This record gives sequence, C-alpha cells and structure tokens, in this order.
Amino acid sequence: MGGFFGVTSRNNCVRDLFFGTDYQSHLGTQRGGMAVINQNKFTRHIHDITNAQFRSKFDDNVKNMEGNSGIGVISDYEDQPVLVASHLGTYAIVTVGVIQNAGDLAKKAFSRKHTHFAEIVRNEVNPTELVATLINEEDSFAAGIERAQSAIEGSCSMLVLTDDGIYAARDRMGRTPIIIGRKDGSFAATSETCAFANLDYVTDKFLGPGEVVLITSDGMSQIRPAHDYMQICAFLWVYYGYPASAYENINVEITRNRCGAALARNDSHKVDLVAGIPDSGTAHALGYAIEAGVPYRRPFVKYTPTWPRSFMPQAQEIRDLVARMKLIPIPELIKGKRLMFCEDSIVRGTQLQDIVQRIFDYGAEEVHMRPACPPLVYGCKFLNFSRSKSILDLAARKAIKEIEGNENTSTPEIYADASSDKYHEMVERIRKRLKLTSLQYQKLDDLVTAIGLPKSKLCTYCWDGCEG
Ligand code: SF4
Repeated sequence: MGGFFGVTSRNNCVRDLFFGTDYQSHLGTQRGGMAVINQNKFTRHIHDITNAQFRSKFDDNVKNMEGNSGIGVISDYEDQPVLVASHLGTYAIVTVGVIQNAGDLAKKAFSRKHTHFAEIVRNEVNPTELVATLINEEDSFAAGIERAQSAIEGSCSMLVLTDDGIYAARDRMGRTPIIIGRKDGSFAATSETCAFANLDYVTDKFLGPGEVVLITSDGMSQIRPAHDYMQICAFLWVYYGYPASAYENINVEITRNRCGAALARNDSHKVDLVAGIPDSGTAHALGYAIEAGVPYRRPFVKYTPTWPRSFMPQAQEIRDLVARMKLIPIPELIKGKRLMFCEDSIVRGTQLQDIVQRIFDYGAEEVHMRPACPPLVYGCKFLNFSRSKSILDLAARKAIKEIEGNENTSTPEIYADASSDKYHEMVERIRKRLKLTSLQYQKLDDLVTAIGLPKSKLCTYCWDGCEG
C-alpha cells in the first residue's frame, strides 16, 4: 500500500522527515525514499528496504542531508520520490495508491510523442512518474494535481515538494488518508498520525476526500475543498493502520477493541483464554476478552528483536517460513486449554492453517477463530492490499470454488451475504480446511458500527463488492 510523510519548517527538517517517514514502515515493503529541498537544490535518496529497516538504510544519508522542506515515502513497488524538472519548476513527488488505468494514461502520453518515461519498474511505467507527467500538462501545480486526480481510476494520494511549499492531495474518493500536523514553526503531512506524537506535532486537520492543501512553515492554505463523497478504506482500522494512528479522528486501537467486543457479544462458546494472532489480532482480542470476561493470554509471542517488520519477503515459501519463525509458542498456555483466537482477517489462510496445527500439536483441546472482519470475497482494486496474483488465492474464493465446482462464480454476492445458506457453507469449508473447532466471522454491520462512520462513507468492497 505505502505511506508518506512530508514536512516544511523554519529549521532543518531532516530529523523530523527521517523519523516521520520511518513511522510509515508498516505500510510498505520494498522501497524507501526521501527528498529535501535546500535553497532550490534537491537532494534525494532511495533504497531497497526489502530485507532491511528504513532507518538502517538511511542512517548515513541523513547525516549529509539538509533542508527546510522534505518528503519521504515507504513504497510497495516503485522508486520514489521522483524528481522532475518541468515548466512548473523542479519538484519532487511521492504517491500512495493504485492507478488502474496506468496503461491507458501512458499510451495517451506517448501519443503526444514528446513524452517519455525514464523510470521503469517491472517493465511498466513508474506510476509516480506517470502522475508527474499528468501534473506537467497544466500551467500550475493546483491545476495539474486536479488533472491527475480526475484522470486516474483507482486511488492516488500525493505529496508534491516545490519551492513554494508542499502540496498535499488526498485521493478523490478518500480511500487513503492524509493528515496535517503542526508544531511551532513546522507543518507536516502524513499517512499515519502515529508519526506525530514523538515528533511533537499535534493534528491540525484530517484532509477530506479530494482535498488539496499547500503547507509551508507558516501555515496551511486550501487549494481545493473536499468532496462530500468519501470511500475511506475500512481495512485501515482492521489491519493496515498502526494502533496509535487515527483516521477521520477515529483511533485504530480503540476501533479494534470495539471489533473484538462485537465478536464477543455474538459468541456463546465457553473458553479458557482469549488470544490474538500477533500483532494485528492483539487489540481485537483484548476487546473480546474484556467484553467476554475471559482472561487475555499470549500463547504465542512474536520474536521482535530480528523480525520487527510486519510485511514479508516476496516468495510465498519464504514468507511462510518467516511467519513461522516469528511466532514462538508457550506450551503451558496451550496444553489442555480451550483457546479463542482473534485475527484481523483471513486472507489466504495458509499461515493460519500452520498455526492452528501447531496449537493442536501442543495439546490444545479446542481452537476457535474469530476474524475481526467478514470473509474476503472480492479482491481489492483500489490499493495494493495483497501480494496475491489471483483472487482465487483468497480462502473464501477457494471455498466457493469447491462448492461451485468451478473458478468463476457468477454470484459472489450470495456468499457475501451472512444470512445466506451459501455463506454458511463457505465458512464451514474454511473452518474444515483450517481444522478449527469453530469459526465465526465479524458481521459487516458490526464492523461498520465499530468504526463509527456511516457505511456510505466507507469502502467495504472486499467484503460485499459494493463500489459505493
Ligand atoms: S477493497 Fe478493501 S482493502 Fe481495498 S480499499 Fe476497499 S476496503 Fe480497503
């Protein structure tokens, strides 16, 4: 998915930029980058962070960087920030999102003959460079950003670092957040508010969908107002987001507690302890335990000294191996026990299958699973949510394929309807494959209530196929 941080200050901004970008690390897997501007000169560094932390890769660079304004990004695929020399001036840009019509937009650009793209990623045009090309078609940054936002299908939030300050533009439907923070002499823009607290920023504004602002060290000015219509990704609260962050002024940890409590209210199983699959299941499990009045325990602990990152290497076998090595069981909390696990979601289910088997191998009597969101029936097309190449990798789709006898169900909506027989048949197939004692998913209404926004303002596509 990716996350970014930008800061503009009366003083050298590099320390805030470095740590602010580092606090986006849970959102991306492959590339980290920072650019600063110092008296009209740009300095930029980009590193591969696939097997290393952002901080370790940029430690040396930071010593040689200086400037009052800068942007940084943790990116899933492409090299960013992109530095652009254009008729608008030289600028740097970072983006978050997915451009579904990137191929068409690139073709259109080529048809104008003078356009070329210098940054190729996996044989495709670098999406951030593509956005820059769209911006360059207009006479001002404000008009260029507007052009890019309206041409892009999918989602694209961006920060544009210019001589005049940093433009922060949230994607048209507001699927990804941008939050503005301030402290004396500095303004910052971030994907995650967890970046603010330790850098002494206070949240100034949650940008609305499609809203564009320009921040300078002196303040913030609105370039384009927000649209009324929003489709913010509900998965941010369930899984992606960091517990200390808030979007639309709604904290992640507390929302997860409410998700767990809702799961508990719908449950009648008697268990000895409640646990979360670390890390993102933890807050859901705490909410469940408190609501159910059952002790919260940690039958698995995560080995954090060498496995601190939440994402995994590219190859599935290595990811599965890493997932296994990260979690260490505590047999005393497992043997003879009835365990209730909360998990953020079940995507493919393969790692969960291994965990469940291990819990039974350690002598558990019962293993129950409560995902904090409904079954994932549709693949996300708005963000880089999953590494899966095929929708059939989803545990729910595998179960549907078994039931239907072919890959292409024409009625996925029946399986997304928790009151249908097909839904229950699908859940039962997943339960059996994972060898769980019981499996009960969160109901979509309860998830929406736990978040606290009207459903019409949330993207829930991956659960119900609703495009808003
Ligand atoms: S489809 Fe799912 S993961 Fe993608 S933006 Fe919507 S809620 Fe988020």
